[in-house]
Amino acid sequence: MTEQALRDLAEQIKSWGTALGFQQVGITDTDLSEAEEHLHSWLAQGFHGDMQYMSQHGLKRSRPDLLHEGTLRIISVRLDYYPEAQKTTQQVLTEPTAAFISRYALGRDYHKLMRKRLQKLIDRITAALPAASHEALSMRAWVDSAPVLEKAIAQKAGLGWLGKHSNVINRQAGSWFFLGEIYINLPLPIDAPATAHCGECSACLTICPTQAIVAPYQVDARRCVSYLTIELQGAIPEPLRPLIGNRIYGCDDCQLICPWNRFAKLTAEADFKPRHQLDAQHLLTVFSWDEEKFLAATEGSAIRRIGYQRWLRNCAVALGNAPYSAEIIRQLTARLVYPSALVQEHVHWALTQQRTKMNA
Ligand code: SF4
Ligand code: SF4
Repeated sequence: MTEQALRDLAEQIKSWGTALGFQQVGITDTDLSEAEEHLHSWLAQGFHGDMQYMSQHGLKRSRPDLLHEGTLRIISVRLDYYPEAQKTTQQVLTEPTAAFISRYALGRDYHKLMRKRLQKLIDRITAALPAASHEALSMRAWVDSAPVLEKAIAQKAGLGWLGKHSNVINRQAGSWFFLGEIYINLPLPIDAPATAHCGECSACLTICPTQAIVAPYQVDARRCVSYLTIELQGAIPEPLRPLIGNRIYGCDDCQLICPWNRFAKLTAEADFKPRHQLDAQHLLTVFSWDEEKFLAATEGSAIRRIGYQRWLRNCAVALGNAPYSAEIIRQLTARLVYPSALVQEHVHWALTQQRTKMNA
C-alpha cells in the first residue's frame, strides 16, 4: 500500500471506530521497551502478589510480535463506562452499611460488547482492502484476555497518560473507560503519544485507603483493595481488613479523587447501566443471598468471576467494619455454619470486630 493509502485507511479506521461507539481510537507501533522495563521492575518487587499470570508468558506481554506474529501496529480504543447510579459513589462510600461495588462492575461485563465491536472494526478494515490482499492481512482483537500491556499501548497511541495511580487519564474524559486493542500487520501511520499532566498533584496517593500507591506510578497490588477483593483467592491479610471499609468488590477512590475526572462523561451504553440494584444494596442484603441468588444477581456481570465464597468473604469483612448492630451479629453468627474455612475465618473476624464495638 502507498503511504497515502495507509494514511487514508488510518483516518477511516478512526471514524469507523467512533461510529461503532468507541470514544477514541489511536494507533501506535510495537516498541514497548519502556513499559517492559517498568513491568519487570514491578514484578521484581513482587507487587503483583498472587497474579502469577502477570509474570508468565515471557516477553509476549511487552513484545506484540511475539504474541501475534507479524504485528506492526496496534489500534487502541477506549469506551467510557461511568454509569448513572441511584446513589452516587460518594453516597455509597459514606454510608457504612451500603455495599460498595466498583463502578465498572455495576452493569454487564464489558468483554463481549468490546470484542464484538472490535470484530466489526476488523471486518470493516478487511472489507475496505482489495480481496487479493486479504490473505496477507493479519489482525487480532484483544480485550483484557491476553498478555497485552493495554495501558502503555493506550498512552503511546495518544489516548491518555498513565496517572500516578497507574490508570490511563484523558484530558477531555478523565479515566473511567475500558480499553481494547487490535494488533495489525500493516504499517499504518502512528499517533503522537499522550503527554503527562499529573503535575504536582498527589491526591490519589493520599486518598488510597490502604496506601497501595507506594510511590508515584507504583501500585503494590498486594495492598490494593481491588486486588484484595477481586484477585486474591485466599484470606485477606488481617491488618488490611479494617482499611477496606464497605468496599465489597473493587475500589474507585484513586479515580474518584482525581481532578481530571471532572471532565468524565456518563456512559450512554445500556449494557453498563447498573443491574439488580447493585448500585444501592445494603450489606446485610447481599450477605444474606444464597448461592442461587448470588448467581442470578451477578448474571452477565464481572462480579461472578470471584464466586460465592469470596463474595461472602468480602461481605463479612465489610460487615466487620460496619458500626455495631445486633442484626449484623445475628446474621454473621448464622453464617458460621457455612462449610468453607475461608468464609468462617472472615466471619469470626467480623464477629470479633462487632463485639469489640458493642463493648466499647
Ligand atoms: S483502587 Fe483503591 S486501593 Fe487500589 S490503588 Fe486505587 S485507591 Fe488504592
Ligand atoms: S489524582 Fe492527581 S496524581 Fe493522581 S492520577 Fe489524578 S492527577 Fe495524577
